[in-house]
Amino acid sequence: MKYNPIVNEKIAKFEEFASLHPYQSEETIQGSLEVMYELERALCEISGMDYFTLQPAAGAHGEYAGLLIIAQYFKSKKEKRTKIIVPDSAHGTNPASAALAGFEIVSLKSDENGIISPANLKEVLTQDVACMMMTVPNTLGVFEKNIAEISKMIHENGSLLYYDGANLNAVMGIARPADIGFDVMHINLHKTFSTPHGGGGPGSGPVGVKSFLKDFLPMPLIIKENDEFKVSFNNKKQSIGKMKAFFGNFPVLLKACAYVKALGGVGLKEASTQAVLNANYVLSCLKDKVSIPAGNVCMHEFVLSSKGHLGEGIKTLDVAKRLLDYGYYAPTIYFPLIVEEAMMIEPTETESKQVLDEFIDVLSKIIDESKTNPEIVHNAPVNTFVSRLNEVEAARKPKLHW
Ligand SMILES: *Cc1c(COP(=O)(O)O)cnc(C)c1O
Repeated sequence: MKYNPIVNEKIAKFEEFASLHPYQSEETIQGSLEVMYELERALCEISGMDYFTLQPAAGAHGEYAGLLIIAQYFKSKKEKRTKIIVPDSAHGTNPASAALAGFEIVSLKSDENGIISPANLKEVLTQDVACMMMTVPNTLGVFEKNIAEISKMIHENGSLLYYDGANLNAVMGIARPADIGFDVMHINLHKTFSTPHGGGGPGSGPVGVKSFLKDFLPMPLIIKENDEFKVSFNNKKQSIGKMKAFFGNFPVLLKACAYVKALGGVGLKEASTQAVLNANYVLSCLKDKVSIPAGNVCMHEFVLSSKGHLGEGIKTLDVAKRLLDYGYYAPTIYFPLIVEEAMMIEPTETESKQVLDEFIDVLSKIIDESKTNPEIVHNAPVNTFVSRLNEVEAARKPKLHW
């Protein structure tokens, strides 16, 4: 989870924003429309895309919107394209969104380095492919070095390239998805541009497109005419319609706008470089204690495998639970699916070397404990308010009071 400046929370709570009614007329919400317009322009600048919609409420919702736009585009061209290619390292929301948008999913196997190879792509790239979804850097924290060739293959096939922007924290200010061949993308504001990630809170998944897809964006668009901000339904003929009531999760948009303006271009680039440096530091300190299937250099995150490195009967799940005992928020585990006993480490840009060293020490200690005192790891957490839950029952029949 990223550190999110408290000042952004304060801005989101400003009375002037928080007391607005969504049915107020345009003239009375000029400031809010300006914030959204400015945020759209900033996201265009960061991504290289030409237009953005801020409506989708999460990354998955953005994927769904983006794929509906792609479906509508091919419909307008009267081309029958029914398939979406999804790499096997993708987040589960990718195939889910593709299915919901009415497509058939074609799974693409990553190569031995955990990336997409043109040779594997060639085998599944048929004439009925509408689009390929890619996450860059991918969920293993590896930059997809064959993008230029992949983009060429996809576009020569008449298909489009979708960028899952959940990992934009590694490349903002450094590489722009539109410049490297992508046509449509979403950004998870709650992963990169303030707003705490996790806990099921409100998110936001703006979708960016290149100009040839503008007419398919959700309605309404926010436009600027003679220094006035307006809500426009001009694209209603071809638009995919509305993705969310009113304008999206407005407080999340406010926080993102504040974050971008506070850091500026130089600050955003610095955040990415620092996030990448931090992840590589942690990786280099842990690489002799665990396996790192994708190699010894990463982007803003890396995925380790604890298989063969823990005491008998101890799993990654137990290590994650034991981390809670030492006061750490448990990281993502068992994802991506292509890594056995996976644990994902994403230290983010704001953590100091001291904090990273403490985390490395704790993780190393737990690995040792799993051999010398496996019982304590297996029974973890023991220092928390509740100990290990039956997770299925906790999800299905939650006790919401005591
Ligand atoms: C988090 C994530 C998503 C889904 O985003 P939500 O905002 O949780 O819906 C999609 N792809 C990747 C790679 C992610 O990490």
